[in-house]
Amino acid sequence: MSQTLLGCIADDFTGGTDLASMLVRGGMRTLQVIGVPSGPIDADVDAVVIALKSRTLPADEAVAESLAALRWLQAAGCRQYFFKYCSTFDSTAQGNIGPVADALLDALKAPFALACPAFPENQRTLFNGHLFVGDTLLSESGMRHHPLTPMTDANLVRVLQQQTPRKVGLVRHATVVQGADAVRQAFSELQADGHGYAIVDAISNDDLTTIGEAARDALLVTGGSGVAIGLPGNFKRAGLLPDAACAAALPHVEGLAAVLSGSCSVATNGQVAAWLDSGRPSFAIDPLQLADGHDLVSKALQWAAPLLPNGPVLIYASAQPEAVKAVQARLGAQAAGELVERALSQIAAGLLELKVRTFVVAGGETSGAVVKALGVDALRIGNSITPGVPWTVGHGRTTVALALKSGNFGGPDFFAQALELAP
Ligand code: ADP
Repeated sequence: MSQTLLGCIADDFTGGTDLASMLVRGGMRTLQVIGVPSGPIDADVDAVVIALKSRTLPADEAVAESLAALRWLQAAGCRQYFFKYCSTFDSTAQGNIGPVADALLDALKAPFALACPAFPENQRTLFNGHLFVGDTLLSESGMRHHPLTPMTDANLVRVLQQQTPRKVGLVRHATVVQGADAVRQAFSELQADGHGYAIVDAISNDDLTTIGEAARDALLVTGGSGVAIGLPGNFKRAGLLPDAACAAALPHVEGLAAVLSGSCSVATNGQVAAWLDSGRPSFAIDPLQLADGHDLVSKALQWAAPLLPNGPVLIYASAQPEAVKAVQARLGAQAAGELVERALSQIAAGLLELKVRTFVVAGGETSGAVVKALGVDALRIGNSITPGVPWTVGHGRTTVALALKSGNFGGPDFFAQALELAP
């Protein structure tokens, strides 16, 4: 690999893609890898995002995985490191943001890091250390009921302080608006006063740009994807980042195309309905038939084979809430989910045999399962189809174009729109 400037560790897969999209937007050619690669990767990129699944792991496991990712990125010669977590600071009571950031600082022998999950474009703002989701404090938002990472305190100085023995300080918005030098000065003062972290306020993209500029010399930056807005500019000003125009360029992928949908979210159900209304070919997977031992995988593939040369097909398990409830009542939610994910991954592998190389996949968990079945372990990130969903080109057993959409993204015509923009 040639010079990699920025090495990122993301605590979940879609968060990694979100960050990678942001870096591409800033002019950095970016590769996302799924888990820590077993060896060096030969790719000419400016940034690498290692996507882990560490958000809700026990803290010691999250730390071990994050350190393994850091070692890989250090071996790739990165100049700066970024620990990406959710814009709602999702963490369990015991961690993992504090313990992972502590371990990364120790390993890098760095004394200090900023922490800023704010993402104003997505209505996550941070003021006086308090995180807002839209007009609501984090602790009063839906996040207070999250099944795995309930967030019941909006004061991030307090939240992070509970996760680390290092002292946590605050850089207020009044300082951020004074510009990067003022923020850097505030960091120095906090550090001199024995702080290891600064929560930094941000209520606009301008604030994020200022914070990014202030982090120019920081070995470790921690935050949501928003704060990455300001980082590419530092490398550009240092003359390290060439021509931004080609950052999103993806190689053309030759082959047939298919849409796989395992998401039952409202947006996805609308997208499936729009596809059906347009009269394009579709095949429904009924989980109850799967449970009864019907070989719907072979059936779907036999159905698709003659149609694919004429254009993309949709294979979907997506269903309305009542139907999903009925399936879950019989099979259990977990078992039903796994059954459908297994079928859709086997179908994906079968479609690959049928020369499909362009996949639009709906559903976060579904995407994870499909990517695994296709043997993809690295994704080059291209332009966004809709905010948060870029086209990617995946490398693994073979090269494939992938649009991986988590449930509630995209308008009704997302599938057709994505296929039109395919690399
Ligand atoms: P989203 O991003 O919308 O949450 P996911 O793929 O992450 O979508 O999750 C949807 C889950 O629902 C998956 O585990 C999938 O296998 C499961 N699923 C899909 N269709 C059905 C269905 N008809 N009945 C029950 N579960 C389903």
